[in-house]
Amino acid sequence: MDLTRNFTILNRPQTIAGIENTTYDLIIIGGGITGAGIALDAASRGLKTLLLEMQDFAAGTSSRSTKLIHGGLRYLKQLEVGLVREVGQERALLYSKAPHIVHPKKMLLPIIENGSLGVNATSFGLYMYDWLAGVEKDERRSMHTKAELLQMEPLLRDDLLLGGGLYYEYQTDDARLTIEVLKTANKFGATCFNYTEVTGFHYQTGSNKIAGVKVFDHIGKAAFSAYAKQVVNAAGPWVDIVRTKDEHVKGKRLHLTKGVHVVVPYERLPLQQATYFDTPTDNRMIFAIPRGNTTYIGTTDTTYTGNIANPQADAEDVEYILSAVNFMFPSVNLTIADVLSTWTGLRPLIHEDGKAPSALSRKDEIFYSHNGLISIAGGKLTGFRKMAERTVDAVMKELYKTEGRDIKNCITDSITLSGGHFIYPEDVETFIQELAAQYEAQGITVQQIEDLVYKYGSNTPQVLQFFEEQKKPGKKPKEKLLLAELRYCVQYEMVSNLSDFLIRRTGRLYFERPSIEKVMHLLLDELEKLLGLTKQQKLKCYSDFEKEYRFVVQFKETVGAGS
Ligand SMILES: Cc1cc2nc3c(=O)[nH]c(=O)nc-3n(C[C@H](O)[C@H](O)[C@H](O)COP(=O)(O)OP(=O)(O)OC[C@H]3O[C@@H](n4cnc5c(N)ncnc54)[C@H](O)[C@@H]3O)c2cc1C
Repeated sequence: MDLTRNFTILNRPQTIAGIENTTYDLIIIGGGITGAGIALDAASRGLKTLLLEMQDFAAGTSSRSTKLIHGGLRYLKQLEVGLVREVGQERALLYSKAPHIVHPKKMLLPIIENGSLGVNATSFGLYMYDWLAGVEKDERRSMHTKAELLQMEPLLRDDLLLGGGLYYEYQTDDARLTIEVLKTANKFGATCFNYTEVTGFHYQTGSNKIAGVKVFDHIGKAAFSAYAKQVVNAAGPWVDIVRTKDEHVKGKRLHLTKGVHVVVPYERLPLQQATYFDTPTDNRMIFAIPRGNTTYIGTTDTTYTGNIANPQADAEDVEYILSAVNFMFPSVNLTIADVLSTWTGLRPLIHEDGKAPSALSRKDEIFYSHNGLISIAGGKLTGFRKMAERTVDAVMKELYKTEGRDIKNCITDSITLSGGHFIYPEDVETFIQELAAQYEAQGITVQQIEDLVYKYGSNTPQVLQFFEEQKKPGKKPKEKLLLAELRYCVQYEMVSNLSDFLIRRTGRLYFERPSIEKVMHLLLDELEKLLGLTKQQKLKCYSDFEKEYRFVVQFKETVGAGS
């Protein structure tokens, strides 16, 4: 294992230059959570691994989920017992391997008259859920009367309320989880690039067997080739597009469904805890989850056939979500003007004839092409490690068949993720207090330390070292800390532009949008220095982010509310 590797944009030209002269055991197409998990599994089994992502890492669905590592209560309703058990167990494992980005979160489940769940069914369902997921005693579900529920959450409507349950889900940051998995894969020797698009395949001479991929580097603006014994397509919603670059797709195919979330200021929906509640119109349930100074709410689930790279919330999606909130919490009366930002993701599900979007299975499935391409689709963020295990098992089997390679078993259940180096999950809190005491005199607050630790975990001291190294008289500690964070992300997290930093590495566009305008130029000037940007590159960096900044509230234009 090479611990000296940096996961950085700064040595990109040299590393890309070496690719064409290497034959990899495995090339992975796609740097969302599925591809990242496969890279970690493969590299930790000793396979020479290359991962290529055409946008930024996690820029597809893996930064656009509900951000829960969950046991999948709704899958129990669909009788997907095996799936509930597997993701429940994975949840416990992830909490122990990445406690800085996976936290237990109490979830309230109100039961209403004519809602989708009855009291007895909920009690039994939550009991089964705890049992299947192997939930610890102190996190098992409890059932409550209407009066108790109203005490826990005074904003709930009381006319239809019958009672409810309290259980645990785990909150995460999907994009940061993906980055931490990739950084760990990189430590095990995997080479991973963002902004490298696979545009086609190379085949062995005299056979149809895939021998490599054609790539376009969107940063270096050049085409190159990469060669491997096996190629895995982990392109999420793009899986079928990548499959068709290899062969005509027959049989099973993807069914994309769109899921929108909206973010409002916490004071406009000041929930005491996260809540999973009924929508009034279509027998679905949605989440409302407090995070920092905001509460986010979602999601929708509708069939999607539009542009995959830029799915967008429209006014109808947002109104559906707001009216569900106003139905369950009538006193808050949210309007479109309250929406700070939105994000929209596409679920890469496997199509089943005649099934509605919400009824489609969330199970993953592997497809094999005649030419050797292995494609993986479906699944959940929560189940990424097991999906990776199944995929790399398939790769290992092929390598055994073709070159007698020893089959090595998956070891990722024993690997601590980057940033997760704590003996017990509870140690994260002690770590925060210790760092806060250490940096108080330098003007850093406990809240700022907490924000850093819940992003970078045990890597936080490196960010703080960059803070200390700055010689910027006149800059406030808050600004110096932000610049230190940016430098960390450039040097250790492959950031090459504002959007990478403000969306996927820190989530600021979604959760702190109003504060961004004030710091945008500060960040841009620092990026210029760190990356040696030309004036033109700097301008492009600004205008690319500006588009994203507007995009997250663009739906307002169609209802005339402006942003
Ligand atoms: C609204 C919503 C809410 C969800 N909530 C949850 C949740 O709370 N918990 C949970 O466990 N799961 C949740 N999920 C499911 C979960 O988010 C997805 O299963 C998961 O993120 C899919 O990851 P992926 O890596 O397969 O796809 P993606 O993250 O989309 O990654 C695929 C990547 O492949 C890249 N790519 C495509 N084509 C090429 C090419 N030619 N060359 C190079 N790269 C390419 C894309 O740019 C993309 O980054 C949710 C999904 C949605 C949509």
